[in-house]
Amino acid sequence: MAFEAIVRPEGVRAHVGIIGGSGLYDPGIVENPVEVRVYTPYGEPSDFITVGEVRGVRVAFLPRHGRGHRIPPHMINYRANIWALKALGVKWVVSVSAVGSLREDYRPGDFVVPDQFIDMTKSRKYTFFDGPITAHVSMADPFCDDLRQKLVETVRGLGYPVHERGTYVCIEGPRFSTRAESRVWKDVFKADIIGMTLVPEVNLACEAQLCYATLAMVTDYDVWAEKPVTAEEVEKVMKSNIERARRILYELIPKLSGEPSEARCSCCRALSYALV
Ligand SMILES: [Zn+2]
Repeated sequence: MAFEAIVRPEGVRAHVGIIGGSGLYDPGIVENPVEVRVYTPYGEPSDFITVGEVRGVRVAFLPRHGRGHRIPPHMINYRANIWALKALGVKWVVSVSAVGSLREDYRPGDFVVPDQFIDMTKSRKYTFFDGPITAHVSMADPFCDDLRQKLVETVRGLGYPVHERGTYVCIEGPRFSTRAESRVWKDVFKADIIGMTLVPEVNLACEAQLCYATLAMVTDYDVWAEKPVTAEEVEKVMKSNIERARRILYELIPKLSGEPSEARCSCCRALSYALV
């Protein structure tokens, strides 16, 4: 598949893509930024994309919900977002997202680099292959293992609490779970964290043969805990998480200056394993 798009201004390219989640609308670390509009066959991404440099690496930053959080999770044009990054030449995608915790020991303020997901969404556009070309990509290991390891090392190197594995259950939203649902995700599904935006971003990244991983930031315990949290508490954790996420990206990006290696992950060959 040729990931062609109209890019304004023309000729702008990037190597690393950052998809910012709730609270992260401005990476604050991009030098010589240019605001780029991208028009894809699926329409426009969530917002203009900021392209510039971080420590000598070309980076494209896209706020998933649009600046000012205009777009709820179920209305995000995930296909346009991933297509636009691929069309800009991006090889690595680091997705940042706020999540709830389904475990006592994944505490508010902790980071999680998930290695699995469970899809409980209901009405999204999950694929670039709507026919006549069809493809069934493998999702056994949905994240780039190389990028996951680099992320874990970086977070650990900064001394922030990080869990190197986790199963992310993605719900449709925009409502939160009921207590009964939350207990199902926790006790029956054995999921570790919960959010609304991972799917289908991760599937589409895989179809686009991008190296993709998620930096999940725990903001609170989901309702199973029956610990009422105030909006104030959540906001405080979010603020500190966002500052830390910026530090993490600043340290991580130079480690992504090279090309993904087939020796370390199979993302760029995802389609050669697919049933086409
Ligand atoms: Zn990879």
